[in-house]
Order: sequence, then structure tokens, then C-alpha cells
Amino acid sequence: LPHVVHKKILVLGLAKSGTAAAETLHDLGAFVTVNDAKPFEQNENAQYLLSKGLTVICGSHPEDILDEGFSLIVKNPGIPYNNPVITEANKRGIPVWTEVELAYRISDAPMIGITGSNGKTTTTTLIFEMLAAADKKPKIAGNIGTVATTVAKEATAENIIVTELSSFQLMGTEELKPKVSVLLNLYEAHLDYHKDFQEYTDAKFKITQQQDANDWLVYNGEQQIVKDYAQMSKAAKIPFHVSSKTKEGISADEQYVYWNGERLFERSIIALRGKHNLENVLAATATALLMKCPIEAIIQVLSTFHGVKHRTQFIREWKGRKFYNDSKATNALATKSALEGFTEPVILIAGGVDRGHSFDELIPYLDRVKALVHYGATKDRLQKFGEEQGISSVVSTETLGEAFKIALATSSEGDIVLLSPACASWDQYESFEIRGDEFIDHVTSLKE
Ligand code: ADP
Repeated sequence: LPHVVHKKILVLGLAKSGTAAAETLHDLGAFVTVNDAKPFEQNENAQYLLSKGLTVICGSHPEDILDEGFSLIVKNPGIPYNNPVITEANKRGIPVWTEVELAYRISDAPMIGITGSNGKTTTTTLIFEMLAAADKKPKIAGNIGTVATTVAKEATAENIIVTELSSFQLMGTEELKPKVSVLLNLYEAHLDYHKDFQEYTDAKFKITQQQDANDWLVYNGEQQIVKDYAQMSKAAKIPFHVSSKTKEGISADEQYVYWNGERLFERSIIALRGKHNLENVLAATATALLMKCPIEAIIQVLSTFHGVKHRTQFIREWKGRKFYNDSKATNALATKSALEGFTEPVILIAGGVDRGHSFDELIPYLDRVKALVHYGATKDRLQKFGEEQGISSVVSTETLGEAFKIALATSSEGDIVLLSPACASWDQYESFEIRGDEFIDHVTSLKE
């Protein structure tokens, strides 16, 4: 990497990805300085990198740090672009990468990149499982897997790197050029910390900006804004449609999934629930087909994959009731997606941090909610909401454990018991994962 050897490089932010990037750059022969806001005494990553011989500056981001004369900055995706050091770097024309750009540059393995507002982790996992079932030696990187740089270092040209790419990661890319890029959807509700919707969508588009006619872009053919962006891509285009059969790309009607208008398989083989998951399934299937996975491998995965942990994840059936853990649903939009996927009566367990947001997005899908059992800081508002919407049973409790007991007592054969909180977890939990794990514990400890 000519950009790197004997060059002075600054790595900003020492989470897992920054630490891996700094170490990799050091091993490649760069003179690396790392800078992290967390004080040195509490900063294990900084201590480790110092012991490896890197220069470490901790406790703040000094504005004059750039006077050291760096030729490249690798920043943590979480550090905003209005950080004074980054603004100054832009002024001075110093390139600012995120760690995925480095990962891309150090590896010969083809990359599959997945982005979108919703469904990234599910689609990434599906693609990984399909490639694995077809012996294509995939390696998963990013949010659910190992840091991309670490994966890229170990990968050979025989491997395929499958990676989820957030808009923040994509903003810091230059040459990143996936063999297949997947653009699932773009929702305004997901502005996160972006300046505006334009900046957010432009960042997402970077996933295909470097692609050429030998690469593919798999994209949502039913969302206008995604279609508009796809038009600008030079990659071969594979749209997906979940609402009707189409001649081009991958599509589905009520009964079948089609590839270029030809039947591929029956929808009934798909274990994942919900129309939103059908988007993920079609995008993953198209990608696997482009990577030459046999249809048998694809079907095998689709018929056994019940969802990524905490994402409308099927846990078990017990006395005719089915239990689903959707702890990742930290807002009403996500809970709406989960409810949409069920036709059976649902006992919904919800509640958590009260951000004052509305639950109105759930209204069109409350017809299947036979009971709402809620807990946590949103107690009063969810009680009022449930009563106003005429849900037949609305019960207020203090904890998830209590809510679970009541949900169980209210349930009968054929019901779905769904934890999909529509709220963040940190009024009572450290993370949505821990909340979901507790729910799984309750469900798995039910005796036959
Ligand atoms: P991400 O990684 O983009 O956050 P996940 O795969 O983790 O997405 O799914 C998170 C939640 O988003 C799911 O629990 C589900 O409620 C919802 N979801 C998943 N896929 C989609 C989709 N294609 N469209 C809309 N919502 C979705």
C-alpha cells in the first residue's frame, strides 16, 4: 500500500475498529499516532498500542494535532464530521477514511457490501449463510462479525468478505468497490446524526459509486428514491420487488419467488416472517445467485433460518404458542414491521425508555394484537395508547419478568407471544441484547 509505508497516519477513536486499523497500519510500516478522548489510565486499547510502539495521545482531541503533518486520517465512524480535527483535515486536504476503506485496500478477496436503513444485519447474515452452504468460504465482517480490517488481513482471494456498511462507514470511503452492493431501502426516520437526508442518502450511494459494469447493484425496485440512485450507478442492475412478479431481477407474488420472471421456489419454504424480511430474502437470494450458489444451498438456508438473534427471532413453540424475540425493535417503526409479519393473534410485550415518541405507527396492525402487556418507563403512555385503541386486554407491569408471566397466563393455543418493545432498553437494561437474552431465558425455561 503506497499510501501507507513510511507515512505518518493518524487514527482517531480507539474502539475495536480503530484499534485494529492502527495495529494493521503499524504492521504495514506506517508511523501511526492514535488519538482517543478516553483517558490513558482507563484506555486498554491505548495501553496495548503504546506497548506495540505506536504514538498515543489520550484524553482529548487537541486541535493542533494536525501540525504533526499526517498524510492520512482513519477515523471511527462514530466521530462526527463536524469534529474540529476533521473539519481542519478537510480544509488541509488530508484524506479521511473509515476503517472499511483500509479493509478494502488490503485484501484481494471480493467484497459483498450491504447497506440500507433497515434489514442490513439480517441480509448480511443470510448472504453469509448461503455462501457458506455453497462452500464459497465467506467471511463475515462488521457489526455482527469481526472488525473488517482484521477479517481482510486474514482473507485470501479464495474468500468472499460479506460486510454490513453503515452510512457513517460509507462516508469515509474512496475506492471501496464491492463485487455486489446491496441497497435495501432508505427511510427518513433513520437520519441518525447526519446533517440532512441528502447527506445520508449520498453516503449510502457511495456503496456503488466505484462499481463498474462487471459488478452488480442489487436494489429495492419499489422505492423511488432508491431507484433514482440506482440509475446513477455504472454496475449491472438487479432490482428486487416484493409486491408483484417482474420480468427483470428478483421478485415475488403471493405464491412464488421469480428470477427474471422464471419461478425459483415457493414462498412457503421461507422460514422468516414478514414482508420486510421478504425484501431481505430476495436481496440475499439475488446476491447468492450472482455469486453462483446452487439453488439447493439457497433453499436450505431459507427454510431453516429463523432470524438473527433479537430480530423477530423465533425461539420455540411451547404448548401451541410460538415465542419471538424482537428486542432490537427500539422504536415503533420496527415493532410495526414485526406485527405486520403475523396473521395469528399476538400478545405483545412492549415498553422501556420513554423518549416521548408516538406509537401511532402500530395502529394499522393492532387488529392482530389480542393483548398488550407492557412494563418500564413508558407504562402510563402505553396504557393510555392501548386503551384508546381498544385493545381488548391492556396490562401494566413493572418488569419484563412480570410482563412475561402475564403474557403467558393470557395466551392460548395458536397465539404468538412477541417481545417487540418499541422502546430502547436502558431504563432497565444495559443493552437491547441483554433485554432479549432475559426474554430468551424466560422462554427456554418453560417446562413441557
Ligand atoms: P439493521 O442491521 O439495518 O438495523 P436488522 O436486520 O438488524 O437491520 O433488523 C432490525 C429490525 O428492522 C428488525 O427487527 C425489523 O423489525 C426491521 N427490519 C428488518 N428488515 C427490514 C426491511 N427490509 N425493511 C423494514 N424493516 C426491516
